[in-house]
Amino acid sequence: MEKRKSIIKHILSAGLICSLALIGSSTIANAVESAENQLNSILKIYGLESINIEDGQFLRIGEKMKLPTGSEWKLSTEGVVSIEDGQIKAIGTGTVFVTYKKDNKVHAIEIYVPETQERIKKYYSPADEGRDYYKVIVDAGHGGKDSGAPGFGKNESVISLEIAKKVEQKLKEKNIHVKMTREDDTYLKLEERTVKANNYGADAFVSIHLNSATPSARGIETYCHPNKQMYSPLAKEIQTHVISKTGAVNRGIKYDNLAVLRGSNMPSALLETGFISNKEEYNKLIDPSYQDRLATGVADGVEQYLKNTLILHTLPTIDTGVVINTDTLNVRSGYGVGYPKLGELKANEKVEIVAVGDYGWYKIKYKGAYGCVSGKYLRLASQGLADLNGHWSKDAVLDFVSKGYIDGYPDYTFRPENTITRAEFVKVVNKVFNYTDKAQINFTDVNSSQWYYEELCKAIQAGYIKGYEDNTFRPENPISREEASLMISRIKNNLKGDGTLGFADESQVSYWAKDAVDSLIDNGIVGLNDRNLFRPLDNITRAESVMALSRAENK
Ligand SMILES: [Zn+2]
Repeated sequence: MEKRKSIIKHILSAGLICSLALIGSSTIANAVESAENQLNSILKIYGLESINIEDGQFLRIGEKMKLPTGSEWKLSTEGVVSIEDGQIKAIGTGTVFVTYKKDNKVHAIEIYVPETQERIKKYYSPADEGRDYYKVIVDAGHGGKDSGAPGFGKNESVISLEIAKKVEQKLKEKNIHVKMTREDDTYLKLEERTVKANNYGADAFVSIHLNSATPSARGIETYCHPNKQMYSPLAKEIQTHVISKTGAVNRGIKYDNLAVLRGSNMPSALLETGFISNKEEYNKLIDPSYQDRLATGVADGVEQYLKNTLILHTLPTIDTGVVINTDTLNVRSGYGVGYPKLGELKANEKVEIVAVGDYGWYKIKYKGAYGCVSGKYLRLASQGLADLNGHWSKDAVLDFVSKGYIDGYPDYTFRPENTITRAEFVKVVNKVFNYTDKAQINFTDVNSSQWYYEELCKAIQAGYIKGYEDNTFRPENPISREEASLMISRIKNNLKGDGTLGFADESQVSYWAKDAVDSLIDNGIVGLNDRNLFRPLDNITRAESVMALSRAENK
């Protein structure tokens, strides 16, 4: 669009600005010709090749705008606007084209005056609507008979569609849902564009145009509506990203009463991607690889704006999985190989599943958003821990895993016969008994950067650990059966034994563990093996730990 530089000083009478010949004097406000018919008539008079159709404006009844710089202003229909004192004033509803001459060219500017006085509606964020994705409407400027500004072969409406389609694709690759105001070279009324946007409930509206002025004018600018400067961050993000991707001259952010910006309820911006009237820029603007860079800039800018301003609804994790049967697993934007690839996962990588999709696919958390993967290459946690099948501890372990007290390994094994370190055991105990308060600790072999530091603080506060006499805790040593028994008995200190041990290896029990082992055995929390052995010095296994803590929890 051209910048209107000065106010027209002439005082123009209605008679001077007579309407186009084909519009009869009987035309009244309620019977305004359709915008397309008016455009047809203008094109019949001036011919498509010589006319520059500018970006549409939006006025409410009673509002005025400056008359564009030029001469021989004419209205394509009566009853919508009047021209007086160098201003265009909206006097009725409908659409009108103001044609005028400037620099030996004919210009047409479409002005839309809506019937309703509807204002900006409350805007609902994706989080309010429970959406885990953004919705963007992409508007390719002009279209069909409204060819926009003429170029050196292709007109604005054709090139804006080429770029807009690339923007659509780039946004879809970012998991953003996109609707186009037009998919092909058809004519659309100004209000149809914003009605589509408002009905779709898009989070952002982006209109793609090309600029036209003198042959030497160059560069990119992005428009924001002057009454909606709170949405200027959208224009700024787009402008910044597009300039960085293209290296074009930065003409900055501008403000104008453009119809599509005013009529849309959501944050909106109109991008002038370059000057179609400049041969050098024209050649770039029709080049697919340059269009690609432009589109990437637009998509990056829109995404950045949305991420900065709108919180998506987060889907809770319903299962976890690990990548199997492949070295790399493609993550796509939808359920199926037909959707664009967002990236890839490596073998054994863990994923969080948020939804079960079609065709055996799953939606997973991916890079701060979501992606989709084929279930053929996942092993799901809900499918169980493979090495528990047939193991005596299976039910207790699955119960603990489901409560989040203890984890399996990333490969979905539990390794029930493995030992457990003193720190790991404390972590499980804290979860089982919900210990969260912390005390200060000063074990000489523990420092605050270690993962178990906080766990030991909780255990000291709960009073079930004391550490060794040399003031160490030896957190990474495996824990023995008698040490584990002592910790549990301190927690279950209301349980008493009968004062005698009475098993084959009772002499091996350390003096400090005798009462603990006695009370736990007598209360059925720990047991003896089939040879009547307690094995107090053996390391307790992961399965035995779960079983003892499970019984203690329920006692
Ligand atoms: Zn345009």
